[in-house]
Amino acid sequence: MKFFLAAAFCLQASAFTLAPTPKLSTTSLDAYKVAVVGGGPAGACAAEVFAQEPNIETFMIERKFDNAKPCGGAIPLCMIGEFDLPETVVDRKVRRMKMISPIGNEVDIGDTLKPDEYIGMCRREILDGFLRDRAVEYGAKPINGLVTSIDIPSDHKENKDSQYTLHYQKFSPGTSVGTPESLAVDLIVGADGANSRVAKAMDAGEYNFAIAFQERIKISEEQMEFYEEMAEMYVGDDVSPDFYGWVFPKYDHVGVGTGTVVNRPAIKQYQKAIRERAGDKIEGGKIIKVEAHPIPEHPRPRRVQGRIALVGDAAGYVTKCSGEGIYFAAKSGRMAAESIVKLMQGGSRLPSQAEIEDTYIRDYDRAYGPTYAVLDILQKVFYSNNGAREAFVELCKSKYVQQVTFDSYLYKKVQGNNPLDDLKLLGETIGCLIKGYSIAKPDQAFSNPVESMKRI
Ligand SMILES: Cc1cc2nc3c(=O)[nH]c(=O)nc-3n(C[C@H](O)[C@H](O)[C@H](O)COP(=O)(O)OP(=O)(O)OC[C@H]3O[C@@H](n4cnc5c(N)ncnc54)[C@H](O)[C@@H]3O)c2cc1C
Repeated sequence: MKFFLAAAFCLQASAFTLAPTPKLSTTSLDAYKVAVVGGGPAGACAAEVFAQEPNIETFMIERKFDNAKPCGGAIPLCMIGEFDLPETVVDRKVRRMKMISPIGNEVDIGDTLKPDEYIGMCRREILDGFLRDRAVEYGAKPINGLVTSIDIPSDHKENKDSQYTLHYQKFSPGTSVGTPESLAVDLIVGADGANSRVAKAMDAGEYNFAIAFQERIKISEEQMEFYEEMAEMYVGDDVSPDFYGWVFPKYDHVGVGTGTVVNRPAIKQYQKAIRERAGDKIEGGKIIKVEAHPIPEHPRPRRVQGRIALVGDAAGYVTKCSGEGIYFAAKSGRMAAESIVKLMQGGSRLPSQAEIEDTYIRDYDRAYGPTYAVLDILQKVFYSNNGAREAFVELCKSKYVQQVTFDSYLYKKVQGNNPLDDLKLLGETIGCLIKGYSIAKPDQAFSNPVESMKRI
């Protein structure tokens, strides 16, 4: 038996010597180099996985380590446990939501939540800071730099010896002017958000995007009491022709925002409307920060090219209808890194494009493809005109709708729907649509052919 094992070992060893020289897995000098570009939830969660493999040298390149990503900052409960987050990253635990229709009908939801269930409201500078620091603690080498371009060898898909060269502006503490530097690596994870340079360099193809706008408003302590555990969601063509407006509580202020794809130039008009709709509840508040950023509408046509893989917003992983992307960024970063580390077999080999597609992309699409599809349909049905929006709010009165919505949002899986209740819900939906259309105020016409043409 021992003889066969020894023979098998020798055969394996000789196979290694015949193959192209593998990188030595024991010396960090020869270890394969992985660059994660971007240190948001996607990048930090990818970097911490690579960093835990001793035979991979991991770099996390982030243009601004104290970045405060423009964001509502709502995260599902499951993210706390799944990503081992301390509750200190959560400013507010939202247990009630108010849905407000175009004509001002209000529906309070949250009765179905258990006492320990909540939506976490975070400031991104706190959440991202925690995730980045953890990746660095695990051993990711932080580079404070803005990646400006990437040299991609023409044979990178076939030739695993070919390396990618990242060019970046390196920033040192106390200076705002960068110095040009470059880094050669064997594999790149593009986690650099909606304006991804990595996606551009690898020719990932375009995606359509919404523009989202948010003002952080400091309101009085008395006003803040109302938002203690409460978030608000406003629908109506005044606040967005295809999305919703929100008031989300943060630790000493509220985030008030909206977004749109179809009429991007009018975003400030929609922002004014959401402020007006919130009215007395934020009256007299001081705007402490104004922020805006694109939100991808769908995945990029190509998410892997050679040994470059996209995750998070760079890949296009934001859900329609809810505009949720933080959890999917963290999850995709982690899934991509775990798949790639496994394929690298202890840092002894590099994966091919097909292998990354057959693992990370396949698993991600299987797990979350249906969620994206359902939310896409819901957005098309319920955000398209005021009649449908009235119906949407009315429908939220149903305890069953609340239960299913919270379960799928908080835990990222639909938990045992009841077919009878589903049938009843279909009837209720039709009823709500009929009622909604009968009471709705007509949508304002708008003409934006240039913007509309830009839709992909
Ligand atoms: C106004 C608004 C409100 C939103 N509200 C919510 C919400 O409430 N809940 C939710 O789940 N999602 C929300 N989203 C979506 C969410 O913000 C994103 O889906 C999420 O941030 C994606 O994470 P990411 O790590 O992929 O990208 P990002 O968070 O964008 O991180 C990318 C990182 O890369 C860095 N970077 C970029 N380019 C370079 C470069 N060239 N070189 C080096 N570093 C670079 C950036 O500094 C940044 O830190 C909102 C988005 C917007 C715009």
